[in-house]
This record gives sequence, structure tokens and C-alpha cells, in this order.
Amino acid sequence: MSYKLFIPGPIAVSEKTLRAMAQPMIGHRSTDFVALYQSLTPQLQALFYTKDPVYLSTSSAWGVMEGSLRNVVKKKVLCCMNGAFADKWLDVAQRCGLAAGGLRFEWGQPVDPVALRKELATGQYDAVTLIHNETSCGCMSDLPALMAVLRDFPEVISIVDTISSFSALAIKKDELGIDVMITGSQKALALPPGLSIFSVNKRALDRAASITGRGYYFDFLEFQKNHEAGMTPSTPVIPLIYALKSKLEDIKAEGAEVRYGRHARLNKTVQEWAFAKGFTLFPKHGYGSVTLNCFANTLKVDLAALNKALKSKHGFVIDGGYGKLKGLAFRISNMGDETDETMAALLKALDSVLSELGVN
Ligand SMILES: *Cc1c(COP(=O)(O)O)cnc(C)c1O
Repeated sequence: MSYKLFIPGPIAVSEKTLRAMAQPMIGHRSTDFVALYQSLTPQLQALFYTKDPVYLSTSSAWGVMEGSLRNVVKKKVLCCMNGAFADKWLDVAQRCGLAAGGLRFEWGQPVDPVALRKELATGQYDAVTLIHNETSCGCMSDLPALMAVLRDFPEVISIVDTISSFSALAIKKDELGIDVMITGSQKALALPPGLSIFSVNKRALDRAASITGRGYYFDFLEFQKNHEAGMTPSTPVIPLIYALKSKLEDIKAEGAEVRYGRHARLNKTVQEWAFAKGFTLFPKHGYGSVTLNCFANTLKVDLAALNKALKSKHGFVIDGGYGKLKGLAFRISNMGDETDETMAALLKALDSVLSELGVN
């Protein structure tokens, strides 16, 4: 049975995007590939708000998140932790054998710029990992405020995960001073999983050049060398690169600002619906994500039963809580290609299922 995903990744992929993937293969060292690759760069740079190169990695985002640590951490990395992905990043750093510390907050609390400044002032660190939009609990930290702190510590390389926020709002990489900015294909870009897109500045490349043990697959210098030739270090996932090209056309046709406005509007529509029912936002007030809503299950709805009925009767799937929030919170994505109509259809279906469960 086919159904539509409203979970915060992977999300629904349009027919147009799926068709774009079904094109004949080309050699990844051919002039055709170079033309394809180079045709993407200007638009990707526009979406990253950067003059730096934008690289394509055939991996999920974690590949580049781990790779970034190996490329830039010499002394010690500070991992800002306020949700499942942020917490995992510390674990990944430790698994890489790197010196790492955690700046810990409760899930749903944003990363606090004052606490970040205080910890960095100890002088122990030469890199920071930061998640802009903590998908696990729908919490979006104040990136401009955090980057203002990081700009005061020029020896600290910032690695910023914009995996579930990129292309849903303006994240001005160069203006904010982000050194390494990473996104993935299956979140707000509404592509199938398997491609990670990232941009690295000269500071981070210089740091990488001074580090041994970067490995090969995620070596920033390999990406840069190949980028200069319009290629990737190893054979890339060409179907997803076709899909990315198609998606960039969609974004251009809609207009980035209109797209940002659409996500903000749909996000608010879902919030108003949930608030009217009596649910509350899980993350701290003022720090809700614009690409999804994570609601506390204040009405104690049986979320497993809700999702089962939603899927079997209406063909929609939402998320019943990530990790330790399973059953306690639920998440609804408004990323990608969603429209007023598609969100209205989901909310109508949810109304129907909730009323069957005795919630009106
Ligand atoms: C989905 C997600 C990731 C992990 O992405 P993978 O594609 O599974 O590697 C990391 N960070 C955030 C914020 C995410 O939403």
C-alpha cells in the first residue's frame, strides 16, 4: 500500500523528482558529468549564501558530520547537545578517538549563547558542533546569536548541521561566519536519502591541511581538488544529483523567499490546529522549528493507535516521538513540497482519527 510521509525525514518525494532520477547514467569523469556538476554550483552557493565551494557527498549526512570532525578537530571539540542528533555527535567524536566535551541542555531547550561563550573561554577547544534545527524535538536554536559568539573565537572551527532547516529559511553562511555547513537530501529538500551537501570555507580547509588521519572518503582536500575539476572524489550517486538539479529548478521557479514564507505559514497552520485541540509545543516557547512541529502529547493520546488508523484509513504517516520521546510527543513535518492543501488534508484526517479516539 502506498502512503504519504509527514514524518520529519525522509519526506514525500514528488513525481517530478522521481522521474528526474530515471535518466541514463553518465560517466562520472565525463564532460557531461562536469557540465551537470558545474550547473549546480551557482544555485547551491545562492542557497548556502556563500562564495565558498559546495560539495556533494554520496552518503547520508552523518558521513559528513563524522568526516568534518576528522578534518578539523586537532585539540578538542565542544559538542552542543540539546536533542538526539546533537547528543549523538559527541558519541561520534569519541568513537573517532577525538578529545570531546559536551555542552548539555535538556531536549527541547535551545543552545544558550551565554553558556557557549563561557565554555569556549576556557580555551580548550578548536572546534564546535552545533545543530541548527534539532529534528528529534523540533527545537531551533538562535543561530545568529550563537555564530556571533563563535566569531569571537577565531581559533574555533564551527561545524553547523542545517540538515533539517536548509532551504526552508535563509541561513547566511558567509555572513554568519559558518566554517562548515552541512545538509542532507531527505529533509527539507524533499529528495530521497543518500546525498549530503556541504560547504567549507578556507579556514576549515587550512585546518584540514594541517591534520593527518583525515582518511579518504570524507577528506575535505579531496573534495576541494575534485570540485575544481567539476567532479567528486569517488563515484557519486548520479540519480540523486539529477534529482537535486530538478529540485533546484523547482526552488528557482517558486522563488526562495516565497518558499521560506510557505514553510513559515504551513508550520503556523499546524500549530494553530494543535493548540486548538489542547496540545502544547514540546520545545521552549520561541524556539520551535519552522520545518516541523514537535508537540507534547498533553492529551495522552495513544499515538501508536493514532498512527495506525491514520495510515490504514487515510494513507498518511506522522511521527510518534523520537527515541526517549516515543509516545510522549509527536512530530509533523511541513518540509519540502507541502502546500496549504496537503497540510489541510492531513489535519482533516487527524481530526477524524482523533475524534474516533475520543479527542475533539
Ligand atoms: C536527519 C538528521 C541527521 C542525520 O541524517 P542522516 O541522513 O540520517 O545521516 C542529522 N541531523 C539532523 C538535525 C537531522 O535531522
